[in-house]
Amino acid sequence: MVAAEGKSNAYGEVKDAALAVRGDRIAWMGSAADALALARTQDVAVTDCGGAWLLPGLIDCHTHLVYGGSRVEEFEKRLCGVSYEEIARAGGGIQSTVNATRAATPEALLESATRRAECLMAEGVTTLESKSGYGLELGAERRLLEVARELGRRLPLSVRTTYLGLHALPKEAAAARESFVSQVSGPWLEVLAEAGLIDAVDAFCENIAFSVAETERFLHAARRLKLPAHVHAGQLSDMGAAELAARVGALSADHLEYLSASGAAALAAAGTVAVLLPGAYYMLRQTTPPPVPLLRQAGVAMALATDCNPGTSPCTSLLLALNMGCTLFGLTPHEALAGVTRHAARALGLQAEIGTLEIGKRADFALYRIDRPAELCYNLGANPCTGVVYGGVARRFKS
Ligand SMILES: [Zn+2]
Repeated sequence: MVAAEGKSNAYGEVKDAALAVRGDRIAWMGSAADALALARTQDVAVTDCGGAWLLPGLIDCHTHLVYGGSRVEEFEKRLCGVSYEEIARAGGGIQSTVNATRAATPEALLESATRRAECLMAEGVTTLESKSGYGLELGAERRLLEVARELGRRLPLSVRTTYLGLHALPKEAAAARESFVSQVSGPWLEVLAEAGLIDAVDAFCENIAFSVAETERFLHAARRLKLPAHVHAGQLSDMGAAELAARVGALSADHLEYLSASGAAALAAAGTVAVLLPGAYYMLRQTTPPPVPLLRQAGVAMALATDCNPGTSPCTSLLLALNMGCTLFGLTPHEALAGVTRHAARALGLQAEIGTLEIGKRADFALYRIDRPAELCYNLGANPCTGVVYGGVARRFKS
């Protein structure tokens, strides 16, 4: 049983509150006084959280958490004046991550992904999504998804796996684009789905990646297997990927720096969540932010995520993404926090299970030593998380 103390009322908070957990579920919510009276008559363990704020466990709904190698060398070279072109010629860019990922053992992949996941968990993350996409061949893609599943078994963390079948065209398929898309949408998808490794699929629909037609073909194949979809849409240009995401009933359309009014309207009508990724926007020094006022006006639910990946967003802090969502994209702290809780849950299709504090939902929550919720968005580099409960089990408490 835990107690929280609130001060303002914009976030639906309850002051001097308590909740009770039975098994892995939230079983009761009410006042701290009622909870203490109840505890005197029943045999329950009581935990005093000392007036900390208690929020639903945070959800990072877009990551590329499992990969081999690092791109730090490239980062340093670029800042020392080496051009993108020279780096690409020397085998840098996404191909270097693909090579390192293919060469990595499952143990090494698990070890590095665990370190990244632990950074997120220390801030109160209890659910994250993990995409494949750096294997670009069946065996390596399978390994990435298996490691993501293993991560969820080993850590007190719920991990949703996404098969990012269309991420980049592998070097060896440069002259066989059509056949690569056929394999991804056909036998590879079937084998990975059959093995129970896929919770959803994703594609990078962009002029430097895959066309709307190619993406649509893959997403339709996934739909025949009853797999939900995410779409990397509108990161660098508007080629109608948001409309496609809406058309196939995708759970989310992600990035959306380039989005038209009709794209936003389509997302709203389909109930597709807009997942905003300020880490990549920042690292790429982009200057056109997602049209948040348009999304707001259209009534599109907005989520926020780290997009943790070695190339464009080596970010293992969802709290930093909260700050960037506010400072770079103009979200209100209230919108940003909804973006890592209830709207992130929706982006994963898990709104009935997590994302809010409600009786019957999984008892995933995080405690923060803060004065008001907006502080989670305001701070740069602080981690006020003092405790995490995952599935009803307390993992870490400090005062
Ligand atoms: Zn991504």
